[in-house]
Amino acid sequence: MKALVKVRAGPGLELRDVPEPEHGINDVLVRVHKTGICGTDLHIEAWDAWAAKTIRPPLIVGHEFVGEIVEVGTNVTDFHPGELVSGEGHVTCGRCRHCLAGRRHLCANSIGLGVGRDGAFAEFVVLPMTNIWHHWPGIDADVAAIFDPFGNAVHTALAFQVMGEDVLVSGAGPIGLMATAVARHAGARHVVVSEPNAYRRELAMRMGASIAIDPRERELSSTFADLDMVEGFDVAMEMSGNPTALRAAIAAMAHGGGVAILGLPTADVSLDINDIVMKMLTLRGIYGREMYETWYKMTVMLKSGLDITPAITHRFSYREHDAAFSAARQGDSGKVIMDWIG
Ligand code: NAD
Ligand code: ZN
Repeated sequence: MKALVKVRAGPGLELRDVPEPEHGINDVLVRVHKTGICGTDLHIEAWDAWAAKTIRPPLIVGHEFVGEIVEVGTNVTDFHPGELVSGEGHVTCGRCRHCLAGRRHLCANSIGLGVGRDGAFAEFVVLPMTNIWHHWPGIDADVAAIFDPFGNAVHTALAFQVMGEDVLVSGAGPIGLMATAVARHAGARHVVVSEPNAYRRELAMRMGASIAIDPRERELSSTFADLDMVEGFDVAMEMSGNPTALRAAIAAMAHGGGVAILGLPTADVSLDINDIVMKMLTLRGIYGREMYETWYKMTVMLKSGLDITPAITHRFSYREHDAAFSAARQGDSGKVIMDWIG
């Protein structure tokens, strides 16, 4: 089969012919239809310090996918050939305290698809049946391909109550864009998006932002009067990984507010703890998706009218992977999809 492989330590990925993956008795073999490119894939392609420390080549990369089941292991009863599915990219241990209690998203031993085991940028991928999620027939295939990052957005957006609240989204990358639409769908009064890139601010407005500002030109607090906000944000979602954005969010919070932090800074961050203490803020780290409450929420919100399609801006064949990766790397894009059928 064709697969996009990190062949050796160092920059680059190669489209190679590799053996089809074998599946065990508890596994599901999926013919991949479409995949999404994530920041993680860009780190692995570029071979930055995180990738050099984490990745053991050779490795098939990629973890955002949709496809059709072709075979299932002999223990598998809930999944059948022909069904349209995605996969949860964290393969959990099943034996730790949290896994045993049903809190699998808190597993400290999880292995990442396309990070610690062969991934989905290939014609076929294998996952345990406990990692497979059914889609309904007729779901938009591009949307189905990005349930993984959509799940990050939903997990973050629902970390605090947003109904009737004023919400800040810092960073309008693909995940911030989707979180904007989710917060709106979930009943937020205002969603203010802070994002330096003009193309992404424009997309944020299409996703339902009340206003999208350039943080280099405007203070967050300068939006309050326009939006009839009294004290500050009730809920913030940090989706930029930028320390300045996190500090600005904390400074713009109302008393008692909640800050959900998804963005992963690449360096140490200093924060004004006095501000956090005296405003009695709750800061909460968000990782991955809840298995499978987040997946359930994603499905039912899409079925009840949530539209995340404006966040998908570029589509390529897997053969054009270089062009796809450069579209994802340069800022003037939302989510970039690679098609593995055409
Ligand atoms: P992305 O890099 O595409 O988006 C980040 C955006 O933040 C960019 O558009 C950038 O222009 C913007 N930005 C930069 N500086 C800013 C500032 N000062 N204020 C406001 N915005 C600023 O990333 P993404 O794929 O959308 O992911 C968002 C973040 O979440 C990244 O940090 C990523 O590493 C992280 N992430 C975390 C998890 C998790 O499980 N915790 C999962 C996926 C991604
Ligand atoms: Zn575990």
